[in-house]
Amino acid sequence: MNILVINAGSSSIKYQLMDLTDSRHYSVMASGLIEKIGEPMGRVNHQIFKGGEKQRFVEEIHLPSHREGMSRVVALLTDPQRGVIRDAAEIQGVGHRVLNCGEAYTDTVLVDAQVKKTIRDFFPLGPLHNPPNLMGIEVAEEFFAHSPQVAVFDTAFHQTMPPKAYLYAVPREWYTQYRLRRYGFHGTSHKYIARETANFLGKPLAETNIISIHLGNGCSMAAIRNGKCVDTTMGVTPLEGLVMGTRSGDIDPAALEYIMEQTGMDIHQMLNALNKQSGLKGLCGVNDMREVVERTAKGNEQAETALQIFCYRIQKYIGAYMAVVKNLDAIVFTAGIGENSWPVRERVCRDLEHLGLSLDLDKNSAPSREARAIEKEGAPIRILVVPTNEELQIALETKEIIERGTAPEQSA
Ligand code: ADP
Repeated sequence: MNILVINAGSSSIKYQLMDLTDSRHYSVMASGLIEKIGEPMGRVNHQIFKGGEKQRFVEEIHLPSHREGMSRVVALLTDPQRGVIRDAAEIQGVGHRVLNCGEAYTDTVLVDAQVKKTIRDFFPLGPLHNPPNLMGIEVAEEFFAHSPQVAVFDTAFHQTMPPKAYLYAVPREWYTQYRLRRYGFHGTSHKYIARETANFLGKPLAETNIISIHLGNGCSMAAIRNGKCVDTTMGVTPLEGLVMGTRSGDIDPAALEYIMEQTGMDIHQMLNALNKQSGLKGLCGVNDMREVVERTAKGNEQAETALQIFCYRIQKYIGAYMAVVKNLDAIVFTAGIGENSWPVRERVCRDLEHLGLSLDLDKNSAPSREARAIEKEGAPIRILVVPTNEELQIALETKEIIERGTAPEQSA
């Protein structure tokens, strides 16, 4: 079964075509990123994988809208030289990453009119992502009219949180009337990590207790008890929680008024500053963790402080989530920084031996792309690195929904 995974952003389309015919193995046939849709010159980065070899094609082309962008995806996938299929009809399902569905769905669903309405209803709570996500679905419906469209929500995995974890201590009607609550994001990744970790530990998912630490450009943690999410660091938007590449994470909301008065910024400029100019970038000028670590090695004090703040915030949440998860099996590092940056893992685990986290420094710094354990032999809590794969998770869920032929169900 060929599944196309689509992640449509405000000016971009990320895609991956996967062959999931064999239930135990999958292969990526093609993947790519179209950027700068709507700008004078768009950029297409397309790759195909044939006979174990990767071929890359880059082009610059004006793409006025997502419709032209998706048309380019179809043209490239079916191109005799640059493609991997003859016809769009060889795609049996399309899985869409969608940011926020609120409390409407607790799982992945087949797209129908109601699902699209729900995605639209949540435009105000996902203004940067939900509109392009819906546009991606509508354009894909035109180009892949024969294949089911499936929506995989970034918030769905977190729907098992209890009210004490998802409600803010604010006037109740902010929740009842305006739907303000913790939704949490990166759900697809945390769900994938929970399942992969259970497999790695050889335990049933329903008995697996972990803290999943996703450290990419965006960073979040999830407390997972008996395979289900019971708390997560991101909130009503992805701004809350950990320090990220350019996002502040947790901050006293009263700071906003004070700085707005001092600088004359309005609330939009303020939120832009907290989302795009803060985090590692705000603290030391760069948001790429590789560069931050390089600068610390050269004695750069700003980078050193930034890295300390980044890791300290993770340590605080580890402590908090150990109290929440109980009988913890493992903490699990994943995503760009979590999988690759051994100095970050070392700094996070340093000084947490009293909590049962005892890192093996050699295992931690040994390069590997595989899921692996990096704690000292016999340590009470496992410390794992497990590579995430959100596209695969979306493709697997899309396949499952199509095979089940499930109609969407409203949970509330
Ligand atoms: P996204 O959230 O966009 O999916 P990724 O999961 O790819 O992001 O993570 C991007 C982050 O991973 C960047 O901060 C980058 O610096 C970091 N990263 C990638 N490779 C390495 C590496 N080898 N060492 C340290 N950090 C890395």
